[in-house]
Amino acid sequence: PAYFTAIFIITRLISMIKISSKPFDVHHKDIKALDIAAKLSVDPAAVEAASLDFGHIVKAIPQAVLHPSTPQDIAALVELSYYNSVPFGIAAKGHGHSVRGQAMVSNGVVIDMKSMKKHRNGTGIRVSTDGGFADVGGEQLWIDVLNKTLEHGLAPVSWTDYLYLTVGGTLSNAGISGQTFRYGPQISNVLEMDVITGKADFMTCSPKMNSELFYAVLGGLGQFGIITRARIPLQPAPKRVKWIRVLYSDFSTFTRDQELLISRNGRKDRHALDYLEGSLLMDQGSPNNWRSSFFPHSDHPKIISLITKHRIIYCLEIVKHYDDQTKNTVDKEMKQILLGLSYMPGFMFQKDVDYEEFLNRVRSGELKLESQGLWEVPHPWLNLFIPKSGISDFNDGVFRGIVLERNITTGPVLVYPMNRQKWDDRMSAVIPDEEIFYTVGFLHSSGFNDWEAFEDQNKEIMKFCKKAGIMVKQYLPHYSTKDEWVHHFGSKWKIFQQRRHQFDPRMLLSPGQRIFSSN
Ligand code: FAD
Repeated sequence: PAYFTAIFIITRLISMIKISSKPFDVHHKDIKALDIAAKLSVDPAAVEAASLDFGHIVKAIPQAVLHPSTPQDIAALVELSYYNSVPFGIAAKGHGHSVRGQAMVSNGVVIDMKSMKKHRNGTGIRVSTDGGFADVGGEQLWIDVLNKTLEHGLAPVSWTDYLYLTVGGTLSNAGISGQTFRYGPQISNVLEMDVITGKADFMTCSPKMNSELFYAVLGGLGQFGIITRARIPLQPAPKRVKWIRVLYSDFSTFTRDQELLISRNGRKDRHALDYLEGSLLMDQGSPNNWRSSFFPHSDHPKIISLITKHRIIYCLEIVKHYDDQTKNTVDKEMKQILLGLSYMPGFMFQKDVDYEEFLNRVRSGELKLESQGLWEVPHPWLNLFIPKSGISDFNDGVFRGIVLERNITTGPVLVYPMNRQKWDDRMSAVIPDEEIFYTVGFLHSSGFNDWEAFEDQNKEIMKFCKKAGIMVKQYLPHYSTKDEWVHHFGSKWKIFQQRRHQFDPRMLLSPGQRIFSSN
């Protein structure tokens, strides 16, 4: 019966995808196809889940969902599509935390990467014997990487603000947070990967081995292959962190201090911070938001009256790690760092927390929103990289212009700088062409009926940048025309295209990015 069920599912899948008018010839093909048949689901609940993401804006319905147990299952599916006369699209779905359908595929097959986690039997994250690196499955969540490596007193150095994202998902973009200025994005902290290409080839790649694939995949928006393993370098984990926020009413003072601090970014520089971010505080009822409940309630009145006076307050956030060896000197070093800054006197707030609590700081906000039914709502996010030369105009025209005028912004607005030198230009990720650039993230939550108002604001922001000549690049990019993509990649477009033809010539993978097709 298993054999017939397998044939039934595959035949049904193939005919539904309309690959061929002829029935699929299982005997002629590969026995591997039979192995995955039982793992293909057309269950309505699985299909519905695969047609949604965190954005709740886009919906694309696949024909089936593959629940792989092994990388070989993934390769078998890719092979099935690659060798068919009319191939079907395949989208690896990590944790589905994209906001524009990037991990979806209409009429194709979504690979539920999380299924692999269940079958790895605890071997999905392996720390090397010398503690220099961890081999991590592409389907693993960063929170699990953190917990596992901490058992060895070790941790990766570059993170995202939120840890319930998969390794494959963030490496397909960049993986940025307050550590990026010092350690580079997560894609700058990968030693080696196993990748299944769009030709179903199983390849190990690194800067020395199959380097073209290595650089293509990092920041490659899932267009070249599916990451099934990444080797992430580790360092001794600190025990605790000193975590400070200071406030500014003046944008140029705020950015001058941010830039001063990120100029100390050497890995061995004792005066370098371990984390630096920034955000806007606006009239949103409370200086805290779902991403952070940093400010104590007793300080809310004085922060709110400051916001009322200036309408926007700029908040600089910095962190220094410490452990038993440095616990007696960390306060002195932080004091020294703060002495050089020009924040508003009386507006310095601090915390001293466990390293893991700091890294996992967004989780409590998520759980709170979830319990109120406010997590699964539309997220019309806009994430940008803005060259330093344009950040002051951006503040005038967008933060103090469009944002205040429209007055609809809900949720965090992030703004912090990073150094281009910590990124590797051979990778697919696209950043502005200046040594210092800022990331700005509008992390809106909206109701189901009003997300279009945020989209309008996003469009107006993009239009403003174009008109003002600010050479922005989108992070987690989303465009609707080929011309926009070509413009986005700029001088990298040619190589991006070449690599796509080399590693996924039939354009099977991650069609939801809508770079080479409208899906
Ligand atoms: P998915 O949404 O499942 O997939 C993203 C893309 O990668 C898709 O095209 C998919 O096909 C492809 N893909 C997935 N797995 C693989 C794989 N194994 N191999 C190849 N391609 C694959 N980003 C940051 O940089 N910093 C942050 O601080 C940050 N915070 C966030 C907080 C929240 C609450 C959310 C929702 C997102 C945040 N992001 C952040 C964005 C996040 O990094 C991206 O959306 C990322 O793609 C999400 O990972 P995922 O596992 O959910 O990927």
